[in-house]
Amino acid sequence: STVLAAHGLVKKYGPTHALAGVDVEVGERDSLAVMGPSGSGKSTLLHILAGIVRPDEGQVLLRHDRIDDLGENRLSALRRSRFGFVFQFGQLLPELPAEENVALPLMLEGTPRRQAVERARRWFAPLGLDGLERRRPGQLSGGQAQRVAIARALVAEPDVVFADEPTGALDRTTSGEVVRLLTSVTREQGAALVMVTHDADVAAHCDRVLQVRDGRIDHHSQYTVA
Ligand code: ADP
Ligand code: ADP
Repeated sequence: STVLAAHGLVKKYGPTHALAGVDVEVGERDSLAVMGPSGSGKSTLLHILAGIVRPDEGQVLLRHDRIDDLGENRLSALRRSRFGFVFQFGQLLPELPAEENVALPLMLEGTPRRQAVERARRWFAPLGLDGLERRRPGQLSGGQAQRVAIARALVAEPDVVFADEPTGALDRTTSGEVVRLLTSVTREQGAALVMVTHDADVAAHCDRVLQVRDGRIDHHSQYTVA
């Protein structure tokens, strides 16, 4: 069933049409890669779907409820409870151990620290991070830090995970490992994944690829998933 849908998205910055009429649908356990040249509107699309930027026209629906017209407070509460985010790098708090970085979204929702850290620890083994719970981000490799970021995106059991160039700072081999874990763990959790990437090999791990060009969908394709 459809988790996230957007219809007729238009976003203008002055004379620039960042988005010029875009439709997107993502289902449960579905993963969608958004590709396209620099300046084509990928980030704008991700930010509108995630309730960070408001569209000038069109609608965004989360399980059939419109979210594009919510007030700022309800929108930020919704982002915290229903969405998870993975960025390119630099998203972990350097002074906190890995397990507390992962626990943060739960603590922001009001879960007591001990309980939040206990739930956070359960994500370390599935992400190949066993034994790294007390490491500070500065003591982790790039790939390990991104896997901690994935754990943090999933810990509150969101409906949708948004990833913006999640492998942008990693070498090829590490990129493959990270995107494989990101897609598989997100699917197991039952969430949908929307990922912006420049890397076709990374995009190929998603169920579908959306090509954006000049604020429009140029092409979409479906991979055969084993
Ligand atoms: P086919 O090539 O079999 O006719 P399509 O090209 O219409 O199929 O679509 C391929 C896949 O991409 C389908 O799973 C479809 O649901 C999905 N899709 C099509 N348009 C969009 C969109 N705007 N956003 C997200 N997914 C889309
Ligand atoms: P991409 O992520 O594909 O590189 P963006 O969504 O960032 O593309 O940008 C699409 C277009 O909108 C570009 O022409 C960009 O310069 C413009 N744009 C994006 N954000 C802003 C902004 N906050 N202010 C002005 N122009 C913007």
